[in-house]
Amino acid sequence: MTQPTFSFELFPPRTPEASAKLPAVISRLASVRPAYFSVTHGAGGSDQDGTYGTLLTVVEHSGVEVAPHLTCIGSTHANVAAQLDRYRAAGVKRIVALRGDLPATAMSAAAPGEFQFANQLVSFIRKEHGDWFTIEVAAYPEVHPQAASSDKDFEYFCRKVEAGADGALTQLFYNAEAYFHFVDRCDKAGLNIPIVPGIMPITNYASTVRFCNGCGADLPRWVKLRLEDLQYDKQGLLDFGLNTVSRLCDTLLRGGAPGLHFYTINQAEPTLRLWERATSGATA
Ligand SMILES: Cc1cc2nc3c(=O)[nH]c(=O)nc-3n(C[C@H](O)[C@H](O)[C@H](O)COP(=O)(O)OP(=O)(O)OC[C@H]3O[C@@H](n4cnc5c(N)ncnc54)[C@H](O)[C@@H]3O)c2cc1C
Repeated sequence: MTQPTFSFELFPPRTPEASAKLPAVISRLASVRPAYFSVTHGAGGSDQDGTYGTLLTVVEHSGVEVAPHLTCIGSTHANVAAQLDRYRAAGVKRIVALRGDLPATAMSAAAPGEFQFANQLVSFIRKEHGDWFTIEVAAYPEVHPQAASSDKDFEYFCRKVEAGADGALTQLFYNAEAYFHFVDRCDKAGLNIPIVPGIMPITNYASTVRFCNGCGADLPRWVKLRLEDLQYDKQGLLDFGLNTVSRLCDTLLRGGAPGLHFYTINQAEPTLRLWERATSGATA
């Protein structure tokens, strides 16, 4: 069996204090030699320079590959082409290609731009750069919140793979069965790409509820109620979150997941504790 791959997602820091802390976070995370870091990107071009700047920070503070996320909604071909050229010149070999969520204010008007869906971005990258970039796309084991139906969402996921995606990273989820069902559907559809689960550590009641609500992920009732009880018991909540998510990671890896992609929220320790358990085989 091949060794699972681990990758760590960062976002561009929004304050000078957060920027100052990031190099230490990157160094800590890089010490366990992830396959790559990815760096998020605000849709509609809101933090293109933030993504690029964070990418350079990762390059400076680790020898690890960096994959910028690239969102296309609200963008023009020329703008996306310029970003791809800049990444290629910086030595980037992997892109996470996304439609992106526009800020609510911009969502109301039909978003101006030359891309509507991520499959168009994948096709564009392949047309402009051939096989230079490894392309990761997003997958939704619990179905994208704006999808017309589960079947339609899956059909559109297939289009991203047909357009040339090499792999997929999933939205966060806490129900392992949703992931296994999605992977079964991919197998039956003949999609032969790695589907890597996206893992969000649980370290806080309010933010876990907010993240799940924001992306349409199901937070199991029993987990939500335990977190609610533990919300003022910091250590108790951290222990419960670590045990719950490390059991999820263990189930996923034992069930054949090719790796794990951690949403680090720019914090090293919660992800490293999960990584330690996942690589040592220990759960709770
Ligand atoms: C791993 C990961 C990383 C992410 N990183 C970022 C980030 O850095 N920045 C950011 O802004 N957001 C990010 N997101 C969120 C993502 O941008 C949103 O979930 C967005 O709403 C959908 O992006 P997508 O690439 O999956 O879109 P798509 O695959 O285009 O799908 C979007 C919706 O449109 C539907 N659809 C797709 N194709 C068609 C079609 N041809 N006709 C009709 N309907 C269609 C789908 O069913 C789905 O409901 C990330 C999500 C994941 C899972």
